[in-house]
Amino acid sequence: MIHIENLHKNYGDLEVLKGINLDVKAGEVVAIVGPSGTGKSTLLRCLNLLEIPTAGTITIDGVTLQAEKITNKSIYEMRRKSTMIFQGFNLFNNKTVLENITLALVVVKKMSRAHAVEKGRRILAQVGLADKENDYPETLSGGQQQRVAIGRAMALESKVMLFDEPTSALDPCLVGEVLAVIKQLTLQHNTTMLIVTHEMQFAYDVADCIIYMDEGRIIESGTPQAFFHEPKEEKTRQFLQFFSVR
Ligand code: ADP
Ligand code: MG
Repeated sequence: MIHIENLHKNYGDLEVLKGINLDVKAGEVVAIVGPSGTGKSTLLRCLNLLEIPTAGTITIDGVTLQAEKITNKSIYEMRRKSTMIFQGFNLFNNKTVLENITLALVVVKKMSRAHAVEKGRRILAQVGLADKENDYPETLSGGQQQRVAIGRAMALESKVMLFDEPTSALDPCLVGEVLAVIKQLTLQHNTTMLIVTHEMQFAYDVADCIIYMDEGRIIESGTPQAFFHEPKEEKTRQFLQFFSVR
């Protein structure tokens, strides 16, 4: 589903991604962990073309983009292949919860309003917010807002979902409800997910593969079992000494 070859991203003189190679199969859940400032967000943003890669090749679901030969058409095509969920929800504050979900369905997917509303309600039920459809985002807790944002991404049904620290902006007591919604999604096995997170127990529980990034490179990857219990690289061991999973 996703194939990344020798991906580089520089900001001026700063080399952030230093040759990322990665393959992700359809339906696979990949957790990306590692220290702050090592390029995890940049990697996701390159996949969604929020940032333009400096060099390398990205293929998602049959669409290939080469950094050296980028066109507006290839950017547009690639953007439609994935949906991103951010730390800070990014909801429309002047729209109700339901409208936040139906808007893209009507405008982008050209769905009829009635159909979009029906779908929006079904999704709100899935993320546990059926009773909030007429509320405005600002009246909701951070956990509820993030569940709306996840619902909005679910409604678009893209084959790839990119989560960039979806719980980092939340009060600790609200983290669990958001992780539960994401976990539920992973159990459906039809969406390929890349999840940047510092929630190690969550990564251990839901991921098929864990990737450890440090200084713009993938240092180690493996099954949760191998990664957490038998890390091979010294850097991974040092990082993991601050966490424990069971
Ligand atoms: P992470 O998500 O792993 O914490 P980031 O991908 O956000 O790391 O950032 C990696 C590096 O790139 C950091 O040194 C950060 O300061 C730098 N960086 C990120 N975005 C930009 C930008 N738009 N312009 C310049 N430097 C950036
Ligand atoms: Mg980040």
